[in-house]
Amino acid sequence: MSALLLILLCTLFMMATANATFWGHAWRIFADSPRALLTFTAAIFCLTFAMMLLLANRWLVKPAMILLLLLAAASGWFQDQMGVVIDREMIQNVVNTTTTEASHLLTLPYALHMALFGVLPALVVAFLPLKRERALPKTLRIVGLSALSFTLCIGLLLSDYARFAAVFREQKELMTSYQPGAPVEGMVSYVKMMLRAGNGVATAWGLDAKTRPGAKPRLTVFMLGETSRVQNWALAGYARDTNPELAKRDITFFADTTACGTSTAVSVPCMFSGFGEKEYSYSKAVRRENLLDILRHAGQDVIWWDLNTGSQGVAKRVGEEHLGKNPDPALCPTGECTDELLVNRLSALMPTLTRDTVVVLHTIGSHGPSYYLRYPPEGARFTPTCDTGEFARCNADQIVNTYDNTIAWTDHVIALMIDRLAAQDRLDTSLIYASDHGESLGEDGLWLHGAPRFMAPEVQTKVPMLLWLSDDARARLPGAIPCLAQKARLPQSHDAIFPTVLALAGVTTAVANPAQDLTHCAAS
Ligand SMILES: [Zn+2]
Repeated sequence: MSALLLILLCTLFMMATANATFWGHAWRIFADSPRALLTFTAAIFCLTFAMMLLLANRWLVKPAMILLLLLAAASGWFQDQMGVVIDREMIQNVVNTTTTEASHLLTLPYALHMALFGVLPALVVAFLPLKRERALPKTLRIVGLSALSFTLCIGLLLSDYARFAAVFREQKELMTSYQPGAPVEGMVSYVKMMLRAGNGVATAWGLDAKTRPGAKPRLTVFMLGETSRVQNWALAGYARDTNPELAKRDITFFADTTACGTSTAVSVPCMFSGFGEKEYSYSKAVRRENLLDILRHAGQDVIWWDLNTGSQGVAKRVGEEHLGKNPDPALCPTGECTDELLVNRLSALMPTLTRDTVVVLHTIGSHGPSYYLRYPPEGARFTPTCDTGEFARCNADQIVNTYDNTIAWTDHVIALMIDRLAAQDRLDTSLIYASDHGESLGEDGLWLHGAPRFMAPEVQTKVPMLLWLSDDARARLPGAIPCLAQKARLPQSHDAIFPTVLALAGVTTAVANPAQDLTHCAAS
C-alpha cells in the first residue's frame, strides 16, 4: 500500500468510528440544510486529509498513524460516553493524574472499545507493507495533494461563508468534539503553555508579609475539597439531608461560590496564585510565588498533606506529602484512603505545635467515577448505591445516592476536623473549606467535570465554601462574625480564598486585597 492510501484510509476510519458526538452536533446544527451538512463534511475531510498528508514521510507515517488511531479511539470514547471534552486543560489533568485516579476510568467496556477501534487498526498499520516510492516525485505529489485538499476545504467553507463562520463562532462544542483534531490541538496548546511557563523559577512575591503577634500559636486549616457540587449540599437547600453534622456546627456557609475552573489542574493553582479568576493563567502562576510562599515569608510553617492528585505544583517550594502512599489499614481498606485519615493525622500533630502553622488538607472528597470508594461502609446513608466506577452498570438513582454519600462523608469529615480544632485550647484555630469544582451526574449527557468554560454547566462551577472560627480566632478578628454573615448572602468566588487564608493566619501583606477577604468588611 502507498503511504497516501494508508493516510486516506486512516482519515476515513477515524472520522467514522471516533466521532459519534461530533456527528451528532453536526446533524443537529445543519438539520435545516442537508446541503450544508454535506459541504461541511467534505470540508472537514479535506482539512483532516491535508494535515495528515504532512505526516507522509516514509519513517514517520506508520508511527504517526498508530498514535493518532489510538488517540482518536481513546478520546472519542470519553467524549462519546461521558461528554468529556479533551482540550488543553484535560491534557493537563491527564499529565497530572495518578495511577489510582486513572485506573478507575479503565473499565472493561473501555478496554474492548480500545481493542477494537484502536489497537486492532494500529496493528494492521504496523504490519502492513508499505510501497517503496522514489522520494522526490512522492514528496511533490504529497505536497501538491495536501495543498489541493486544503484549498478545497477553504473553497467549500467560503461557498456558504456566513453560515459556517457563525457555526464556528457560536457552536464551539462542534469542533471541540472532533477526533483526533481536538486532542491534537489540546496537546499542541499544552506544550505551548508549558514553554510559556519557562523553567519554573518563580519570582519572589509578597516579601512584606508579616505575622501579627498572637497570644497563642495559630493553626489555620484549609480543607481543599474535591468534586463537591453545592447543588447537593443540604446547607444550600438540597432536599436530602447531606449535611447532618455541619448543620449543628457554628459555621458560615457560602452558598453561591463560583470556582475558578472546572478541573483540579486549573482551580487549585488558581486559588493559590493570587491572580484571581479573571487574571489567572497557568504560565503566569508558575512564574510567581503564591499564597504558600507568602505564608513562609511571614514566618509561618506550611504543611501540604494530600490524598488527591498532588498540589499541582503549588507546594513545589514548601513540600508536600502524599498520605495515600503509606495507607492505614483501618482508614484505607481498599488501598484507597478516605478523608478521615487527614483529620487523624492532623489531630496527632496538634499537641506538638508551637509555631504558627498553616495546613492544607487536599482531600479526595467526591472524586469520581468511583464515588463508592470515598466513604467507608457505614457512610452509605443513601441506598442502593453504585459500587463500581462504571456508570453504565448503575441507574441514575444509584449514582446520585453514591455521590450524595460522598457529600455526607465530607460533611462528617469537616465536622470532625472542627471538633478536634475546637478541643485544642492551647491553639488559636480556624478552618476554611472550599471545593475545587463541581461535577456532572449525567445532566445533558455530561459526566464528571472539566468542561470548557463556554459550555460548563453550573453543577461543575458552583462549589460549597465554608468558614469556622474558634473562640480565640473570633476574639482576634472582632469584626469577622457580622461581616461573614453579610458576605454569605452575596455571590463569592475562589478569589476570596487567598486573602481570607492570610487573614485567618494573622498575616498582613500589601499584595492581599482586603475587599475580597471574607472576614473583613469596609465598616468593620
Ligand atoms: Zn478536582
